Amino acid sequence: MARIAIIYCKRIKDHSCIACAKCYKGITEKNAEFGRYDSIELVAMTDCGDCPGLVVPRVKLLTEVLANLDRKIDVIHLGTCMRAAMDTAQCPIDFDDLKVLVENNLHIPVVLGTHAY
Ligand code: SF4
Ligand code: SF4
Repeated sequence: MARIAIIYCKRIKDHSCIACAKCYKGITEKNAEFGRYDSIELVAMTDCGDCPGLVVPRVKLLTEVLANLDRKIDVIHLGTCMRAAMDTAQCPIDFDDLKVLVENNLHIPVVLGTHAY
């Protein structure tokens, strides 16, 4: 069982997808980046903190809140919306830098992307 959190692009959410229906479907069908897990528990979803990207403090706050709730996450996925923002919308986040920051400081693996719809 992988306990995951999804971070979405604050600007694209509800424009490219609505109500995150694609990620919910992707989890159910183990589509694309979800295919690496036997089973998935979606623990949390939140946004990137808006431009220029405040993912590290968001994830830090998220882990603190989850600890108070006696919950944990095993892995963070940046939504396919964030990948699209990086590729096509001049998102200022550098995935490689962000991955190193989160993994070194908060000790949670980070995966780029979710579904492929
Ligand atoms: S890619 Fe996933 S997280 Fe991003 S807006 Fe679409 S459904 Fe939501
Ligand atoms: S473009 Fe990048 S930093 Fe801006 S809201 Fe989207 S994911 Fe966040």
